[in-house]
Amino acid sequence: MKTDVKKRAIVIGAGIGGVTAGFRLREAGWDVRILERQTIAGGRMRTVRQGGFVIDVGAGVLPSSYKAVLKLIADARLDGLIDQLAGQIAVPRDGKIHYLDMSQLAVSLMKTSLIGWRSKLNLLRISFDLWRARNTLGFDTISAAAAFDSGNVAQYAARHLDKELLDYVVEPSLRTLYLNNANETSIIEFFWFMKNLSSDSSFCIKGGMDQLAAAVAATLPVEYGVQVNQVAQDGDQAVVTFTDAEGTARTASADIAIVAADGKVVADLCRTMLSQEQLGYLANMRYSTSVNLHFGLRRVPDVQALIVQVPAPVDPHLAALVMDHLKGPGRAPAEKGLVSAFFDDAWGQRMLHATDEEIFADAIPRIAKIIPGFSGMIEIQHAERWKYAATITEPGQCAAIGRFEAQEKPGSRVLFASDLYAPSSVNTCVVQGERAAQAAMALVQA
Ligand SMILES: Cc1cc2nc3c(=O)[nH]c(=O)nc-3n(C[C@H](O)[C@H](O)[C@H](O)COP(=O)(O)OP(=O)(O)OC[C@H]3O[C@@H](n4cnc5c(N)ncnc54)[C@H](O)[C@@H]3O)c2cc1C
Repeated sequence: MKTDVKKRAIVIGAGIGGVTAGFRLREAGWDVRILERQTIAGGRMRTVRQGGFVIDVGAGVLPSSYKAVLKLIADARLDGLIDQLAGQIAVPRDGKIHYLDMSQLAVSLMKTSLIGWRSKLNLLRISFDLWRARNTLGFDTISAAAAFDSGNVAQYAARHLDKELLDYVVEPSLRTLYLNNANETSIIEFFWFMKNLSSDSSFCIKGGMDQLAAAVAATLPVEYGVQVNQVAQDGDQAVVTFTDAEGTARTASADIAIVAADGKVVADLCRTMLSQEQLGYLANMRYSTSVNLHFGLRRVPDVQALIVQVPAPVDPHLAALVMDHLKGPGRAPAEKGLVSAFFDDAWGQRMLHATDEEIFADAIPRIAKIIPGFSGMIEIQHAERWKYAATITEPGQCAAIGRFEAQEKPGSRVLFASDLYAPSSVNTCVVQGERAAQAAMALVQA
């Protein structure tokens, strides 16, 4: 007699990538177990609630180009969680704030006095090179973009653009998203951003970004407070070694294990599954360090855009401000403001172990360059520290990802849903979760 044995998966991590993998496998009838070391789901999509302010301390804004995220939301019947956002960004220069309308970016860039005509003409060069590379700039992998990886952004700008375009358009977008500067970043990261993230509108999650992973996780068996120590393979089984919430060492096996976390976690947990070259890639992979600051304000500041991208000539370390009070009702008490400040990787590394007092003392005068009188407006403040916030795509990295993929063992029962294959974003991690779930289904037949 044939018994109907369910296929089993263990997912490590209840960030958005892990809950997506779990959700898709559950939909397909798998028995899923998710192990998460924190006490809540969400990982780098975390929200802190303080003094009536709802503060997104990780991912905060999702462009409407995030098709995989929107499909996950629809499939999980969570459409009510979407708050649409207006697509304005602001860029300060020489004491003036210039506004760009993302819903008609090309027109807005042509009309703006932020940059001159030479820079506007040079935008055509970016459009042409982006068009050539467009099919290689996936959320799944950027390995094929190696063919277009001609060096760092500063080198590309020196060859094809002008300093003004680099300083006031190109580099501010890199700093805003990945907290790094033009001389460290492959031109592929800028093209990837332009293709995938530069969208005419955006959205966020009602009541705080953590609500998305929490809502999906609520439909799944997630075990919290569990520290996974190793993931390996024994025959056709994945074997996961962990310390449970009571501190007891345990081992569990399943048909598939999916490690849904950043590349550093993959290296730590899967050492025995990876070649020396793969481990080398993960060791060399860079993530920006973010010490991001959040301020509940007594009044709403006079900035009419959700995001202010701060060019390096305005401040070498302050990268972006987000006017979180514009995200939707309930983000801040009535007539109060909520502002998040993001700083570049160099500042993040310097401040990672500094006290809150030292951090705020250095940061507030920088923010006051954009919002005069800022220190007098502060009601509450919060500092969040992320050692590994978002990937920095360096020159040569696309080729290294290709070599990592080529060395993946066919039929491996340990799969990765990770931003080790493509630049960090919520959509990347949803795509990675789905990709791992599909690979699991293809591998373990009924
Ligand atoms: C400050 C900041 C701002 C950002 N802003 C944006 C934005 O506006 N838009 C955007 O699209 N993206 C943004 N990102 C990037 C985005 O948040 C991430 O790419 C995405 O959330 C990562 O999801 P993930 O599931 O792959 O990993 P994670 O969210 O890192 O989840 C991994 C999970 O695994 C768990 N885990 C790790 N190791 C173990 C272990 N050994 N045992 C058990 N559990 C373990 C962790 O606790 C965590 O919950 C931002 C990131 C940061 C840090």
